[in-house]
Amino acid sequence: MTLTTDDPPVSPAVRRSAELEQQLSLDPGRFRVLTGDRPTGALHLGHYFGTLHNRVRLQDLGVEVFVLVADYQVLTDRDVAERLTEHVEGLLLDYLAIGIDPARTTVFNHSAVPALNQLLLPFLSLVSVAELGRNPTVKDEIAHSRQSAVSGLMYTYPVHQAADILFCKGNVVPVGQDQLPHLEVTRTVARRFNERYAEVFPEPDALLSAAPLLLGTDATKMSKSRNNSIALGAGADETARLIKGATTDADRHITYDPARRPGVSSLVLLAALCLGRDPHEVAAEIGNSGAAGLKRTVTEAVNTRMAPIRARRAEYAQDMGYVREVLRTGNERANAVAEATLREVREAMGMFL
Ligand code: ATP
Ligand code: MG
Repeated sequence: MTLTTDDPPVSPAVRRSAELEQQLSLDPGRFRVLTGDRPTGALHLGHYFGTLHNRVRLQDLGVEVFVLVADYQVLTDRDVAERLTEHVEGLLLDYLAIGIDPARTTVFNHSAVPALNQLLLPFLSLVSVAELGRNPTVKDEIAHSRQSAVSGLMYTYPVHQAADILFCKGNVVPVGQDQLPHLEVTRTVARRFNERYAEVFPEPDALLSAAPLLLGTDATKMSKSRNNSIALGAGADETARLIKGATTDADRHITYDPARRPGVSSLVLLAALCLGRDPHEVAAEIGNSGAAGLKRTVTEAVNTRMAPIRARRAEYAQDMGYVREVLRTGNERANAVAEATLREVREAMGMFL
């Protein structure tokens, strides 16, 4: 997708991602990717275009990839981890359906990797309470949380994420825009650890996609927990129904103008991403067909793009024994990596080994 003069100025994170892209294709062996999702519901199109697609691309480039099912982090903004097993299995199906290859990529859940979680203790000593309280994504998640009181786990979420990324010395993290403040915390933890003890960790970079913040059917961030998402595994009819109910505006002339027309523009962007085309061009083609014409185009584009993914997902769902085995094997690999890193950390800190 090309940027035009109508687009907002390029942020430093976007520029850094572009530089990183170049280095990745020149020397994929130098990089290790860690990224993941919370098992709080079905993965959606925001995930696909925000991060999932990048994971598969990096895997196929030859970069070593770790994909995390962040099961403890479900509890940050929920009292209980509801329907956890079902959500974990759903995530695994989505990963396999989009092309994550368990022979090349390690898929694991962090509650099954004790040494990873132990990194949280030294890491917590490296950040101040004030720093944790300033994190804008934590503030936003608190605002949307279902809890009456904010738990300590919510505040320490970004530090836990530092443990998730650094246990395998991940140096590239393909994420959506909401994760940028968290990644800053990881960079700070890595830098401070290295300065205080010994050079153990890389300072990882975020890799943003062309859709770092896809909006949902209510024109706010598409999120599993906000009832505004279109799941990867949704059927064609359900997709049509959800898109039909999406927020638009009264202007029949369709344009791509994210700042002034967030609802219409996010639908245009969704169609453009599915078609691999420029959103301005897609909008111009729909022209005066109004919201109904726009929604027809989007529905067809989403259903066509998702059809093979949905078919593969249904196939994998026939063999849940294999799907669970993928996680067990990944956990074994992740444990070996985490134990080696924890040993290095304890040694650097002068702990009795
Ligand atoms: P929840 O509502 O439970 O927080 P979520 O939909 O925000 O769920 P997460 O598991 O928190 O999903 O995020 C997983 C990854 O997907 C992160 O890298 C995040 O940045 C990315 N992501 C989530 N939503 C979007 C979106 N709307 N657009 C682009 N990327 C997204
Ligand atoms: Mg989220």
